[in-house]
Amino acid sequence: MFLYIARKSQFMQYKKTKKGYLRYAKDEAGKLRFEHCIIWERHNGKIPLGMQIHHIDFDKTNNKIENLLLVTPADHKKYHSNYKKNAFGEWEKMCSKCMQYKEPTADNWYFSRGWITGTICKKCFIQKSLQVRQQLIAKGWKRIK
Ligand SMILES: [Zn+2]
Ligand SMILES: [Zn+2]
Repeated sequence: MFLYIARKSQFMQYKKTKKGYLRYAKDEAGKLRFEHCIIWERHNGKIPLGMQIHHIDFDKTNNKIENLLLVTPADHKKYHSNYKKNAFGEWEKMCSKCMQYKEPTADNWYFSRGWITGTICKKCFIQKSLQVRQQLIAKGWKRIK
């Protein structure tokens, strides 16, 4: 779905995505592209092949240059999976249950094919399984070996 809004004598297009609106604009060559890409390139030159632009505050309509970050597709996936970089430039992932940032190691998370599975940390997962077990026992369930 496109909405056409006249602005500065040129047509802007807005594309609705799952995560908000992405704004389109025409670049110097008259090609219609994402506005955030055009703005980033105005400050930094051409986006290197295969790289992507991330909105730091996750607001896809905030296309101020301070809000735009050049990232690899792998890092981009991380930014959108509750990861952030700590003061040492190392990745940490936030647990959606205890809300703590934890190093992406096997001590803290369950892995599958190199990626963390689920959104909660190991500690919370074990806690949750224990709670489920206690609830089942309380309901009169017995463990069958
Ligand atoms: Zn992003
Ligand atoms: Zn946790």
